Amino acid sequence: PLGPPPRCRILKMIVIGDSGVGKTCLTFRFCAGKFPNKTEATIGVDFREKTVEIDGEKIKIQLWDTAGQERFRKSMVQHYYRNVHAVVFVYDITNMATFQSLPAWIEECKQHSLGGEIPRILVGNKCDLKDATQVRTDLAQKFADTHSMPLFETSAKNPGDNDHVEAIFMTLAHKLKNHK
Ligand code: GDP
Ligand code: MG
Repeated sequence: PLGPPPRCRILKMIVIGDSGVGKTCLTFRFCAGKFPNKTEATIGVDFREKTVEIDGEKIKIQLWDTAGQERFRKSMVQHYYRNVHAVVFVYDITNMATFQSLPAWIEECKQHSLGGEIPRILVGNKCDLKDATQVRTDLAQKFADTHSMPLFETSAKNPGDNDHVEAIFMTLAHKLKNHK
């Protein structure tokens, strides 16, 4: 006889940051294992999931990426911020303005009760464009320390041999699993 279906816990992570920093590409890289051929600007919310196994337990990781348009926000924002297990803040290392937006994103999360009580991480994306760096690692690290978040620099386009993007989300999933 068939036993009960294996448990599958869901971890909801929201991926937040300015438009164009690579949120959609990062979630695609993690869930589909590749860089998308072409991306369209996210309308409303991009939602992807991937089931992984951690210590023999199936875990469904859901990644939510929002576009941040006003019209979307008013109707969807409550839904988006509900039952969140972790927050991934993303900036583009080649665009200082996206780094300078982070305090506002952090504040917005706090207003939805997503402060330091849940795991939050900071991701500097587009590290394949090192020559165009505007946000130096030491600056980002200082900011991350101030907000008690770990910092990861990576590239959705070219994450390297030991797929760094995968490692980032998996590290977070391990942390969440052991949290509860
Ligand atoms: P989002 O608005 O934050 O969801 O950003 P997208 O994922 O749609 O990416 C915005 C643009 O940045 C697209 O043209 C992507 O091809 C590009 N992009 C995303 N990630 C990377 C990366 O790691 N390296 C490079 N060079 N380009 C990237
Ligand atoms: Mg997007």
